[in-house]
This record gives sequence, C-alpha cells and structure tokens, in this order.
Amino acid sequence: MDESAYFRILKNLGLIHDAATEKQASSVYSKYRFYVKYLVKAQKSVVLWGAISILLIFLVANLREDKDINQLCYFLMFAVSAKTVFFNIPVVIFYDRTLRMLIVECTHCEHVFKCDEAWYCPHCKEKNDFSDPFQYYIYSLRYSFLHKCKNCHKSPIAIQCPECHNPINLIDGETKEFAWWARLTSDTRILPVPPGHIERVIPIDEEIKRKKLEKENNPPTMLEKFKERIRSRTSSVIDLHKAKVELLEEAGLIEDPEERERVKEIIYTATEEIEEEQGI
Ligand SMILES: [Zn+2]
Ligand SMILES: [Zn+2]
Repeated sequence: MDESAYFRILKNLGLIHDAATEKQASSVYSKYRFYVKYLVKAQKSVVLWGAISILLIFLVANLREDKDINQLCYFLMFAVSAKTVFFNIPVVIFYDRTLRMLIVECTHCEHVFKCDEAWYCPHCKEKNDFSDPFQYYIYSLRYSFLHKCKNCHKSPIAIQCPECHNPINLIDGETKEFAWWARLTSDTRILPVPPGHIERVIPIDEEIKRKKLEKENNPPTMLEKFKERIRSRTSSVIDLHKAKVELLEEAGLIEDPEERERVKEIIYTATEEIEEEQGI
C-alpha cells in the first residue's frame, strides 16, 4: 500500500484534517495557519503517547512473577506502541509534508519562496532561524513567518519579497508601512524601497520564467546578491565607493551585532571582488 493511500485512510478515520474541505482556507497563509495548528497538536500527541509507550515497555521489561496482570501489561504495551507508530507519527508526517510543500508567491513579481526559511520578526527584531537538524523538525514550521515569532509570539502583517522588496500580505487588510514587514535573513534590503522607485523591472515572459526556474534550483548566495546590487549602482570608481558606503550604512541598521558584522564583511568582500573584476 502506498503512502498516500494510508493518509487517505487516516483522513477517513477523521485523524487528518484537510484544508481542501475548508472554505475559508483559500490563501496560502490561511491554509498554513489551518494546518500548523493541527501539526502542533499532532507533535504533542506523539510526545505524550511515545512517553507512555516507553513507560510501558520499561514496566514489561521489569515484570517478575507470572500473574494475570502481566498479560494486561503486554497487551497495553503493544496497543499503545502500535497507536503511536501507526496513527500518531504518520499524522505528524502528513502535516509536516503538506506545510513544507506550500510556497509563497510574490503578488508583485511572481517570485516564489519556501515558508520554512529563516526570517526577522518585525515586532521584536529577533531572528527566527531553525536550520539545525533538531530545530528544523520541531520549530521551523511552528515559527514560520506565515505563523508567528518564537520570541514574541506575534504574527507578521506582511513579508518583504526577497526579490522585488515589496510587501506580500499575510493577513486580510492593509500591509502598513515598512517597519511592520517581516524580512527573510537572505534578503539584503534593509531600508524601504523609496516610493516610486523600481529596483528592477521584471517583464513576465518565457525567458524570465525559465531564468527564474534556474535560479530557484541554484539560488544566489548573499555575496552574489550584494555584488549584483553594487554593480547596479556602479559605473565609475567614485560610484563604487558611494555604493559601498550606502550599503554599509544600510547594514549598520541591523540590530543583531553578529549579523551586522557578517553582512558588513560580505559587503567588503563583494566590493573587493568587483574592484578586482574591473581592474581598479
Ligand atoms: Zn517577535
Ligand atoms: Zn516580489
């Protein structure tokens, strides 16, 4: 029996809730919030039933005399362990996979990105980064920018698109101003795009779509992104120096000192590499 058939059985048993049957779960963020609350519940159930299974296994291993109660202990141990393995764990797997498959598409430039990427909270400025393997499974979905911040438990109103830097709504209603938007840690733009300014015009045609696909499979590093931003501002040595100063000023606004130094270091390296390329 393949996996999806098993998930269908769990759905029919009422153990899995599907957003497809919910009228209100139409946008990515409403779907996300629908699934994530069940994921958290399912994770807690696995911990609870897993702990009971271990206790029962421990109890059975320490049984001494042959009494009627022993059989009951064996029965309970098998029943509880089977429930955990065949019902509780698959439910977590289902919600985890479903959530990780959801992608956010920018309403301005059609750029797409994943919902478990590291991000900065606009309310408390803390970084939500759960890329190490343990935290990845426990926290990266629970504390996605589509849900809430691990530190202050508030939800962002919008996320800044890492490509065109415009806000993408994460609630029904207005996005408010720049200070209210969450930002991916891979996004290099820390200051708002000036009104009327278009960072890059992106005509939507086949060529662009193909390039976008290529880029998704091979995303540029932060260093490459900064190099691109410096190049777009540079046509002379004076411009290069100016671009460097401007970007360093922008980086100076990062609150986390470690992150600030890291970004500044990248800007220095990017400028040096461009200087070398241009033979300055
Ligand atoms: Zn926060
Ligand atoms: Zn965009």
